Parts: sequence; structure tokens; C-alpha cells
Amino acid sequence: MNSERLKENVSVTIRFRPLSPREIRQGEEIAWYANGETIVRNENTPSIAFAYDQVFGPTITTRHVYDNAAQHVVSGAMEGINGTIFAYGVTSSGKTHTMHGNQRSPGIIPLAIKDAFCIIQETPSREFLLRLSYLEIYNEVVNDLLNPAGHHLRIREDNQGTFVEGVKQEVVLSPAHALSIIAAGEEQRHVASTKLNLHSSRSHTIFTLTIESSPCGENIEGEAVNLSQLNLIDLAGSESSKAETTGIRRKEGAYINKSLLTLGTVISKLSDGRAAHIPYRDSKLTRLLQSSLSGHGRVSLICTVTPSSSNSEETHNTLKFAHHAKHIEIQAAQNKINDEKSLIKTYQNQIRSLKEELHRLEHEGEAKDALLSQIQSLTRLILVSTKSPHQTDPGSRYSFMEEELAYLPKRGRNLSLDHENIQLHVTLNEGSHIKDDKKIKKPQKRDGLTLTSGSDKSSGGMSTTSNPTPTPPANTHTLAIVESRRLSYSSPSESTSEPLQHVEVLTDSEAIQEQLNEKNIECKGLEETITALKQLLSENTTIKAQAVEIEQLKEKVAKIRESKEQLEIENKRLREESAYANELASAAANELKMMSEQVVKLMNQGVV
Ligand code: ADP
Ligand code: MG
Repeated sequence: MNSERLKENVSVTIRFRPLSPREIRQGEEIAWYANGETIVRNENTPSIAFAYDQVFGPTITTRHVYDNAAQHVVSGAMEGINGTIFAYGVTSSGKTHTMHGNQRSPGIIPLAIKDAFCIIQETPSREFLLRLSYLEIYNEVVNDLLNPAGHHLRIREDNQGTFVEGVKQEVVLSPAHALSIIAAGEEQRHVASTKLNLHSSRSHTIFTLTIESSPCGENIEGEAVNLSQLNLIDLAGSESSKAETTGIRRKEGAYINKSLLTLGTVISKLSDGRAAHIPYRDSKLTRLLQSSLSGHGRVSLICTVTPSSSNSEETHNTLKFAHHAKHIEIQAAQNKINDEKSLIKTYQNQIRSLKEELHRLEHEGEAKDALLSQIQSLTRLILVSTKSPHQTDPGSRYSFMEEELAYLPKRGRNLSLDHENIQLHVTLNEGSHIKDDKKIKKPQKRDGLTLTSGSDKSSGGMSTTSNPTPTPPANTHTLAIVESRRLSYSSPSESTSEPLQHVEVLTDSEAIQEQLNEKNIECKGLEETITALKQLLSENTTIKAQAVEIEQLKEKVAKIRESKEQLEIENKRLREESAYANELASAAANELKMMSEQVVKLMNQGVV
């Protein structure tokens, strides 16, 4: 009962990143560490400790973070419960690594996209429609990353909640399609900013997946449609609050503070439970997220921190912020709408009436072809499982195809941790990975290589090495060969009887290239499908185009009906004429017969 309620609450987690090679070189100490699975403790003052729902040490993979701090939000959103996942922390603490990730370690956004399509595949009883938008808030200005012309967008409110006016929403058809749209949005962000690093650390990006679903089948007219939003947010660096307290007031910093500070206030007021006024309207970020935060959705706050001593004060601030958020209680509720305005209903209704039309006009060849193709293109926008209800394929959930990986950044684009082209290898003893990260704190030298991690000496630790594929020490688990060969992230159920190993193992680019090639061949068929989908997409990019097509089609149908009516009139007239002609002919025949009888009679009388 209690744990049920807790599940529905805001979940607050802390994620440590490893010390970077540079931090190690500079001799940085560990200032904070994960003391077990729920506590963060200060190294110098052990009495200073904070407890959270979950704490992830520096060796924990994003996959594991996803499974434990994000998956319930994503699956809730697929069932109609709003969800929001934040990455909060100072610049360089690992927010973007956690949310976006890279080819070797896909982040929560690509993992959520894969998961969403997998859930669709596992839910044959419902059909889904997914739309995606990608926004940025910079200096309290909302910009559309999917539309270069979408600047200074306004936030409005209707009875469904707050929304961004004029935001571009793309209907998405596959994981690769969704990732390609995000990649294009990122590109747009790069083009728009002159100082990208500064810009990206000072802006919030908000990726929103709008999910509609309804039961499959014919008699669904009265059934409600589930509508929900999944917001995945890479927040601006939280360090600017420090700039503010030290009196440095730059416009950008102040604005970032406005959104981040308001988020902090909103969250702490919510956690208070008694506060009457919650100042959602004080910042664009909180206003935009009002519906998701105000008691109807699931929220996961992932606070990223570095263990390093030089950032100790900022880490402390992050820990305090996270602690405020801990007590929020949110009752999850499904959003049911029975609104003909919902896009999925609109499409379903159009498909149904077009099918009826098609049935009526079955003998009108041309119209039939046009209608058929129209029905097909509309049907393709609605996503349905291709499986029977009992089939499951857990392996596909997190494995990324080459086509999909192509849209994720290559590892090392952001060079602040791995700028030295150093490979990090992590191997761990079974089960020891998060028991006590304190053991990780001592950087060691071994054969000229720096070792920063590892629960005991036999593990080999996390090492920087020039050998890309070291031999795994005995009695340890390395996923190097298996995992990187497939370049995939297997699901928990794949790991047979062993507990899941939370390891991240990196191998050289050659091995990966080889595996990519293999994967490439395997996926040939799938690529063709994707190409076909892309082509379909270029034909049907926007909902507007669909509407125009539908209008044109309706006109065509009306014209055909009109000409059919004319033909029928003509046909009737011809039929009447032919009946009349028949009458004339039979009258003439009668007359002829009479005349010939008379001739015979006269002949018999000998007149002729
Ligand atoms: P932020 O977005 O918070 O500014 P980044 O995600 O860009 O920080 O992280 C800074 C650097 O640290 C990047 O090079 C990133 O790859 C690396 N990094 C962050 N978190 C981790 C992690 N958990 N494991 C390995 N590398 C990480
Ligand atoms: Mg970032």
C-alpha cells in the first residue's frame, strides 16, 4: 500500500559520474560518494548524508538508470498518465550524457523512444498515434527546435492544460524516424547559436512525446481515447545560481535562475503540501510543465553530480535541491478524453467513412484506387502491434539498429571527459557494484595506467588504457565482447540466472565497425522498410497535408457521384427511347403481317 503510493510519487535519484581523466590527473579527491543504494555521504564530514529514492554510483550504466528511474514514467505515459523526467545538475555533471547519451551509451530519450515502440508492439489490443515536439527555453524565450521560424512561442492554456501555441508536432512512425527528427532539432540548435557550449549549458531543452491510444477494432465509436504527454527535459546548468549569489548578474544567468529557481520553489511548495499558492506562472519552464507537475502525472528527477572535490559545493547544492523534491506526492491518474478533436479519433472516423464510401463506389474503378491509397496512408500513421497478444520479444526493447544509432552523437563529441581519446574499461564483481562506492575513491597507479574504480583489486577497476580489449580478469564479468559485438543493450530477462551486471565496457572502434557491418547485413530488410516509411513520410509529412488530401478526395468522390447520377439519367432516357423504338418496331411488324395476310387473301381470290 505504502510502496504503491511511493511508486506514484515523484521519484528523486542521484547519479554520480566517474571522475574524468583530467580530474584524476589533477589529483582531485572524492568529496561525495554513494553509500549504498539510497544514501549520499560526505567524505570529509560523514555525518552529512542525504537519502533519496535511489542513488547510482559512477559505474552504473544509463540502461540501469533508465530501468529504475525512467521506465515507470514511460510505461505510465503509454497508458495515459502524464510523465516528466528531468536531468538537473551543474554543467558537466552528466545531464546530456544521461538524457541523450551517445552511440555507445544511448540516453534516456532514445531508450524511451525504443521502449514506447516496443510497448506498442506488445499491446495488440490498442492502436497508437505518437507525435513529437522539441523545444528550447533560452532567456525565458520558447523556441521550436523543429521549426526554424518558431521563435518566441507563447504558452497558452485550455481545459486540457497548458500548451505551446504554434509548436510543430511531427507524427512519428518508427524509432529511427523519431531519432532523426531529434537529430535535426539538435542541428537546428547548433546553427542558431554562435557559442554552442555556452548556449547549451544555459538553455533547457524539452522533448515531448504526445501519445494517443484507443482500443483496436470496429465498434469503437463510443470508446475514450487516452491522451498523455511524456516530457524529457535536459535542464540548463544549475551553477548559475552560484553566479547570482556572488552578485554576478548577467541577463542569461538571471533568466536561467528564473526557471530553475522557480522549479525549485514549485517543487518545494508541492512537497510542503500545505502551500496555497504555487507559482507556476513565474517561469516559462514551470508554466509549460504545470499540468505534469500539478498532481496528475509521474515525475522523475534525476540529479547528476560529480564526486570531485573541486565541485563539492555545487554538488552539495544539487543534493539539497533534490532533497526538497523528495516529499512531493502526486496522484497518478489517467487522462481520458472522449473528444472528437483528438487526432486518432479524427483519423479513425475518416478511415471508417472512406471505407464506407469505398464500399458504395466499389464498381467505380478509379475512385476505388484513390480511396484505397488514401486509407492506406492514413492507416499507416496509426501504430498497431504486428504481434499476437502472447508473443513477446524483450530483446528488441533496447537494441539499437545501425539506422537508429546513426542519429545519436558519436562518443566523444563532448570532449570534456574523454578528450584524450582514452577508453574507460569497467569490470565488476557480481553484486558489488553499488554496495559502497566509497571504495572507488582512491585513484591508483598501475603499470603507468590510472585506475579509478573497481570494488576490489581483482576486478581490474575502471582503467584508462591504450589496449582497447583487455583480457578480463578471472572471476569477473565483462560484457566487452558480447555487448559491444552486438552494440545492443539487452533486457534484464536476457541475462539468464545471473543478476544484471551494471557495467559499461568499451572496446575499440574496429571491433565496433565489424559488428556494425554484421548488423548492417542483418538489418538490410528492415532498412528497406524504413526507406519505404521515409518515402511515405515525405509524401505525408504534415497533418495539414492529410487534411488537404482528404478534402480533395471528398471533392473527387462528389464529382464521381454527380457523373454517376448523370449517367443514370442518360441511361434511363436511352432505356425509354429503346422501349419506344421496340414498340414502334412491333407495331410495324404487326402492320406488315396484316398487309401480307391481305395480299395472300387477294391472291387466293384470284385478284392478283
Ligand atoms: P552536462 O550535460 O551536465 O553539462 P555532459 O553530459 O555533457 O554534462 O557530461 C560531461 C562529460 O562527462 C561528457 O564528456 C560525458 O560524456 C561525460 N559523462 C557524464 N556522465 C557520465 C557517466 N555517467 N559515465 C561516463 N561519462 C560521463
Ligand atoms: Mg549538457
